[in-house]
Amino acid sequence: MKFYFPDSQDLISPTYDFLHDEYAPHRVRQRDDRYAHEVLETPPYHGILVSKAIVDGGVSGAGKYSSSQRARFYRMGVRRFFRLPDHIATLGDNGAFNYVGEEVPPVTVDGTLDFYDECGFDAGVSVDHVIFGYDANATLTQADPAWIRRREITLDLAYEFMKRVSERGSHVEPVGAAQGWSPTSYADSVKRLQEMGYTRIALGGMVPLKTRDVLQCLYEINEIRSPATELHLLGLTRVDAMETFAQLGVTSIDSTSPFRQAFMDERKNYHTADRAFAAIRVPQVDGNVTLRRAILAGDVSQRDAIEAERETLRALRSFDGSPRSQKTALDALAQYERVNRSKKSYLDAYEETLTAAPWLSCPCRLCRTHGIEMVIFRGTERNKRRGFHNLTVLANKISKLATPEALEQYV
Ligand SMILES: [Zn+2]
Repeated sequence: MKFYFPDSQDLISPTYDFLHDEYAPHRVRQRDDRYAHEVLETPPYHGILVSKAIVDGGVSGAGKYSSSQRARFYRMGVRRFFRLPDHIATLGDNGAFNYVGEEVPPVTVDGTLDFYDECGFDAGVSVDHVIFGYDANATLTQADPAWIRRREITLDLAYEFMKRVSERGSHVEPVGAAQGWSPTSYADSVKRLQEMGYTRIALGGMVPLKTRDVLQCLYEINEIRSPATELHLLGLTRVDAMETFAQLGVTSIDSTSPFRQAFMDERKNYHTADRAFAAIRVPQVDGNVTLRRAILAGDVSQRDAIEAERETLRALRSFDGSPRSQKTALDALAQYERVNRSKKSYLDAYEETLTAAPWLSCPCRLCRTHGIEMVIFRGTERNKRRGFHNLTVLANKISKLATPEALEQYV
């Protein structure tokens, strides 16, 4: 199983000063900052997925790239732009979520293929149109007319994409996009894509599905799948079901969720092989919008807040695993929550985090370098490093999965 990381221009600054919370004065963003594959000893993914909509922008506004980054991306190509080692694969797609509200995709097959060709992608997904909805009982013809239309559009565009790839003699490996709303419709899409000549097929629109439904689709697809056809699940990581996915022909997946959980999830921020811990929130008095507002409104004393923030960081940095240092840290955190008038207390979760102290035993380079800073929820530099760490945990889980060959004896 191969894991692709969807690019959203997430980098860290290797020269960031944690003690003063400052960037080096002459730092140039993308040039000096580093991607996950550049800061960890082993890249935590086998490939990256780059969406055209993230680079170019789209109907819902600007992309994640500045105009100069975009120009450099086109000039240098995907491999040089990301400074990728040879063994990391590149996969392009349109970012169909970006135009999900449109009747028809506002992108052309030629425009998409230009993007893949000019930027030197190894593989690219045909233009697709996401179907929002799942109904296992709807048939191919008795279903929401919009779903039926979107599936036909996706298949027509896949046909045209394959044709243009061969007419142009493109070096991009074509990946057919399959959309559907039920096991039967997904299986039929895969069948038709195989007839067009696709041996690699990406299944889209499955993110909201329950694992049980995904499996049902995969079982149905398996009935018609040629042995040579490899499946990619777009946007999906369900580690507990991964071995079954592999048995059913899934050879690659992509997802941002382990990365984003580092700072988006309420509590599951720092991942380990068997569970997730809450990161310890120490908001910056200067940089935190909510806190600044409370200070301006006179609800929180700025002096008290700064004092509590400093004391909390000091206590955390002198944490050595002893019960005494743990108590000092928890007392400081409790005081900071009081001064901040936090609506919610995370002290019980912090106690678990400190008791387990998982960063002390993590072999990844970031945890070894930054220690307890890795579990402090504060600003993008710490939060993204924790996200990168989470990717290493996922990569490790995936590498421990049995290979399809090894599983065959049980099938
Ligand atoms: Zn780590």
